[in-house]
Amino acid sequence: MASKVKSKEYKREAVPYVEDGKQDTFVPTEPLNPCELEIDLFCRGIRVDDSSALGEEGRPLVRTRAGLGSGLEVIIPGPLKDVWANIPVEEEFAHKSCYRIVREGKALKVVDDRQGFSYPVRLSPEVPWYTRNTTRGVQMQRIGVLQGTYLGIYISNSCGFWYHSPALNCKFCTTGLNVGVNEVELKDVEDVVEVAQTAKAESGVTFTHFNSGYQTNRDLDRAAPYVKAVKSRVGSLIGVQLTPSRDLWKYDRLMDLGADHFSFCYEFQNPEFFAKLCPGKEKLIGQDNFFRALEYTSKKLGKGACSGEIIAGVEPIEDTMAAIDMIAGMGAFPTVCIFRPTIGSDMERWPSPRYEDMLVVYLHLYEACRKNGIPMDVTPNIEVSLIVQPGDTRYLADSSLATKLYDMKLSLMKKAAKPYFWWAGRPKHIKGSEILSE
Ligand code: SF4
Repeated sequence: MASKVKSKEYKREAVPYVEDGKQDTFVPTEPLNPCELEIDLFCRGIRVDDSSALGEEGRPLVRTRAGLGSGLEVIIPGPLKDVWANIPVEEEFAHKSCYRIVREGKALKVVDDRQGFSYPVRLSPEVPWYTRNTTRGVQMQRIGVLQGTYLGIYISNSCGFWYHSPALNCKFCTTGLNVGVNEVELKDVEDVVEVAQTAKAESGVTFTHFNSGYQTNRDLDRAAPYVKAVKSRVGSLIGVQLTPSRDLWKYDRLMDLGADHFSFCYEFQNPEFFAKLCPGKEKLIGQDNFFRALEYTSKKLGKGACSGEIIAGVEPIEDTMAAIDMIAGMGAFPTVCIFRPTIGSDMERWPSPRYEDMLVVYLHLYEACRKNGIPMDVTPNIEVSLIVQPGDTRYLADSSLATKLYDMKLSLMKKAAKPYFWWAGRPKHIKGSEILSE
């Protein structure tokens, strides 16, 4: 399709970097802005040629859940906002990247070897509590990890799709290889509370995100005790990302227990890609149930509170853009993850997406959020490193009147929402039982 990229001129020419026999097409002729750089780094990865460049700073590379968090966590400073990114380093394509990270004195920079542009970056702050143990003797990092500025906790023992015969796991996923090896399989509520308290006190965490693979239709039931415990004993905004339930009343119960946000990973809009690459979700859940739960929770919690999650760079980008329109049209925000061919997954040998395609997708995301009035970056202190956040795409917008009006609206919303988020992040007395069904 014709590229809608208008924000910068890109020069098409042969370049010295040849990936798997294919020549690069776009080479920036002027330095990228932080969001463009973030997108390109997700697509190309980065080389850490000299291990002393990083020293002991920053966060260790952590391989958990679907394998996405296995990269190098960096912050790209910028005039509108700082951008957090978890950049691929381990995958084969990253070893051939035109980007490398180098140290100059105390400073770190990302150098683009194609034309010599360099960009200052910082490593994400270290997490001093990772190596400490909970009172029960479990290493805290095995309970939860920071991804950007939020605490991510994989609540339960792996994903049922991996244990089917034949296996029905999503083809891009490595959860079955990681949980129980790099993480504790079944998290104890007391451990989770302790880690959430520590993350709040020492790392300023304001958002705790519970996530799990397929739990044979008991997904929401399993999440409920954790939601209630963290909301009532720690105080935090709480997000829940589980396979959807047909029992929509369970979402109401989870909201009563403290859930502020639901996200639904349906991955692909194109039904053929969904069926082929997410066989468990196709056979045991169905794409329609994702849409139904997203629409329901989004209506209940209000504009911008829920999200639909998709992967860009595998299905045609027209499908990805249709997904963005559908999600934003429901009042939810589109969480678009750039496909990463993680080591050990069935799609390990697939190519990483092309920068120019992803730029089109994220420009479209910005426009869809603006047109549908979806709040971006209104919630305080939530930076997500695994994706290009909707708020990051502000760097891609033109300077039209529509952009300025949207900026003004977001700024007013941010101010107005502050007291609410302060209230929502405090420990609360929660009535009712965390047992959803017998
Ligand atoms: S639902 Fe899919 S992506 Fe999620 S853990 Fe299971 S196999 Fe992985």
